[in-house]
Amino acid sequence: MNLNGFYDELMVYYGLNARKLPWRGLVNPYAIWVSEVILQQTRVEQGKEYFMTFLRYFPDVFALANASQEELLKVWQGLGYYSRALNMHAAAKSIVQNYNGHFPSNYAEIRELKGIGDYTAAAISSIAFGLPNAAVDGNVKRVTSRIFGIQSPVDKPETVAQMTSLLNGAIVNYPPGDFNQAMMELGALICTPRNPKCSNCPMQPKCDAFKNNLQGKIPVKSKKKMATEVHLDFFFFEENENTAIVKRGNESIWKGLFEFPNVENAEKKDATKLLEYFGVYADRTVVLDVHQFTHKLTHRTIFAHFWHISGMPSNIVMKNQGYLRVPISDLEQFAVHRLMDKYLKIKVFKEISSNENDK
Ligand code: SF4
Repeated sequence: MNLNGFYDELMVYYGLNARKLPWRGLVNPYAIWVSEVILQQTRVEQGKEYFMTFLRYFPDVFALANASQEELLKVWQGLGYYSRALNMHAAAKSIVQNYNGHFPSNYAEIRELKGIGDYTAAAISSIAFGLPNAAVDGNVKRVTSRIFGIQSPVDKPETVAQMTSLLNGAIVNYPPGDFNQAMMELGALICTPRNPKCSNCPMQPKCDAFKNNLQGKIPVKSKKKMATEVHLDFFFFEENENTAIVKRGNESIWKGLFEFPNVENAEKKDATKLLEYFGVYADRTVVLDVHQFTHKLTHRTIFAHFWHISGMPSNIVMKNQGYLRVPISDLEQFAVHRLMDKYLKIKVFKEISSNENDK
């Protein structure tokens, strides 16, 4: 199918309708990289604010490479999927070490950086360096599969390869960065997952899904795996306005982040029994409150209980298990994961500020 005339229409559409976004029009590869990584799992509205904050704290690759992990995670806090930030940190260090701080300027070298996949490498290389690499993200998969009537699952690598090759055939005729952004914008604004606005779409006369009324059936996705259930019991110990926190180890998606002492998938469901893990025994246990959250991640559903306990395990037990004893009012200074953040905002910081107001 020859779509060249219609891609012309698409470029006109993009020129007239592109949203004003803080990263639009930039050609600095570092800033484009930051925006692309933030937007991988984040809505545009939320991403805008984080993008500006991130560049304020880490305006270039040297600033990011020299930041401590704690500083970085604190700035990233609330965005989730923290491995994105840790991978950027590692990649920034390698750019400083291997390229004297100059962002690599070809697809293969960009793709080698930690945390950068095909899509991000294509987005950076096309927008910052004008290289003709089609960037195929979720929006582009939806648009392309509908236009070409592709009915194989869009989450399969062979389908993505097919779409990439189709788009690589077209991108050479246009400014590559604009072409990629036009496709993404069409997906975000017109060819939306539900109720696409076909009557306003520049691609409509050539769109296979429109012609065959298949917009509701395409894109096709593979059957989803069931999310694994994880049960986490957190303990907010309180003694003389102090509490205990611990840093997550390397094997976790929350690695490097702080949290209350906790037990994962414990067989014991009773707080007094659970507390025995921390050397706190029933006769010394006073549960002040328990709060429950459900937190959904892509492949996991976490059922969390936060137990607020009067008293603290002995210093010896805490030291052996790597816990830090910290003033509750200092908790805000630590980078924490989304679940902790939610609990602290609802139950802890609110109380601190209402106690301060009462004084
Ligand atoms: Fe998407 Fe409809 Fe445009 Fe086809 S015509 S690309 S389905 S918005």
